[in-house]
Amino acid sequence: MRIVLVGPPGAGKGTQAAFLAKNLSIPHISTGDLFRANISQGTDLGKQARAYMDAGQLVPDEVTIAMAKDRMSQQDAVNGFLLDGFPRNVGQAAALDTMLLSEGVKLDAVLDLEVPEDEVVKRIAGRRICRNDSAHVFHVTYNPPKSEGVCDACGGELYQRDDDTEETVRTRLEVYHTQTEPIIDFYRAQGLVVTISALGKVTEVTERAMEALKKSDEG
Ligand SMILES: [Zn+2]
Repeated sequence: MRIVLVGPPGAGKGTQAAFLAKNLSIPHISTGDLFRANISQGTDLGKQARAYMDAGQLVPDEVTIAMAKDRMSQQDAVNGFLLDGFPRNVGQAAALDTMLLSEGVKLDAVLDLEVPEDEVVKRIAGRRICRNDSAHVFHVTYNPPKSEGVCDACGGELYQRDDDTEETVRTRLEVYHTQTEPIIDFYRAQGLVVTISALGKVTEVTERAMEALKKSDEG
């Protein structure tokens, strides 16, 4: 299956992407990983992206599109993939369509993870990260550490990232709506959008997503 995953910040997109890709035996292709891989391997595209980033500018669409194209042409992605973070605007979505059309294939579904705005704010603003290891993540309500402000895993100090305050989250949500809603409309016109609720346990959401994708595949 060829799937695009969309959802607001705080929807658990990265986590779901990893589980779904595993369940469907397709690679999880995230823009973040693409950038990191191209930059660390010093590819031409990586060097271009780096120059823009160093200058504090957004990486232009054609660079991102070229990276995605390169990754999707690799052997493990021939029979399917799950895209996460790409396309991030309608221009990129149109470029992806053209790319796939030239290979004689098309997207099967666009999975839209839905979370109420207040829930997003609660999820992100409650997040606490360990100063020793950013993989040690807690939540004041949903996953509190045994001792307040202290990492269960290593005893490190927990802190709230600047990005995670309520004000920043509201701004990020606005950006998400402005950028992503047009993409969802673009794909809705093609009958590809499958919306599921991203509320509940991680495993429940994965199951819900698998069900919905199966249905859309049959339909
Ligand atoms: Zn820790």
